Amino acid sequence: QKPTVIITGASSGLGLNAAAALAKSGEWHVVMACRDFSKAVSAAKRLGFPSGSYTVMHLDLASLDSVRQFVDAFRASGRRIDSLVCNAAVYLPTAKEPRFTADGFEVSVGTNHLGHFLLANLLLQDLEASPAANPRMVIVGSITGNTNTMAGNVPPKADLGDLSGLANGAVMIDGKEFDGAKAYKDSKVCNMLTMREFTRRYAGKSKVQFASLYPGCIAETGLFREHYDAFKTLFPLFQKYVTKGYVSEEEAGKRLAQVVSDPALNKNGVYWSWSNTKGAFENQVSEEVADDGKAVKLWEVSEKLVGLA
Ligand code: NDP
Repeated sequence: QKPTVIITGASSGLGLNAAAALAKSGEWHVVMACRDFSKAVSAAKRLGFPSGSYTVMHLDLASLDSVRQFVDAFRASGRRIDSLVCNAAVYLPTAKEPRFTADGFEVSVGTNHLGHFLLANLLLQDLEASPAANPRMVIVGSITGNTNTMAGNVPPKADLGDLSGLANGAVMIDGKEFDGAKAYKDSKVCNMLTMREFTRRYAGKSKVQFASLYPGCIAETGLFREHYDAFKTLFPLFQKYVTKGYVSEEEAGKRLAQVVSDPALNKNGVYWSWSNTKGAFENQVSEEVADDGKAVKLWEVSEKLVGLA
């Protein structure tokens, strides 16, 4: 069997383009873990994935039952797993009212963080069983959660507070009023804290290596599907010509594929970013993401919420 990578949300944007890069390399089998089976199949065909290089499997991260069923179905398939990419996300910047997952969590944190938190914890033992020397777990982060950057300082800023909202069943992690844009940013901070806490817990005990990344501003993906039309027109232009942070879906997909497969990026606990001149480099995380106490607390609260503790 070829090495296998599972990519969540591989039906669109970054996940789809990373899947394409890996499937077309001829070196990987890609499991596209998607909520919309037919969308994933037609996207793979549209991008010319070689036949036999991919499998589509159903996964709805907005349901913890679905996450568990996916893990069971994947194990029953008999495939090895050498890399897991937690990529899928929803972003509801214009929502006036919160929406909820099947388990009653606000949908951005429930999908982007809690669904992936359960998936990653369940599949860790399967990654351990990989014949690869260093199987990789990649959790996609974002600059928008990084308040040490310009983009991370656009209000509303990410802020998990003391996590009492998450622990007590409030809509927002900090227990304050619902804000869809902030909920997304909070969820990306959770993604990066989770990667760091995995690294801290398993360094020296596991051969699995953990990584996060900011692939650049991929201003035209489906992530912005719920944004105002004017935003969807102007944002890519702003990113291309003003911030120069714009990256095409194809290039971003290659960057994520690099974190999965490039021997040069075989390093534990790194938040990767790219510069046009230097290529991939190890980036600094924000103060909140560097807060190891918060990472422990988030882990413990999340474990209870997804039924692992
Ligand atoms: P897209 O909207 O194009 O892709 C998101 C993917 O997540 C889609 O495949 C979507 O499925 C899937 N998804 C959403 N909800 C669920 C769910 N409940 N269960 C399973 N899959 C689900 O966005 P991007 O490609 O831009 O986003 C991918 C990642 O990149 C995210 O983690 C995002 O935070 C990150 N990112 C994006 C940046 C950007 O500029 N776009 C910048 C930095 C990070 P479906 O196709 O069915 O909708």
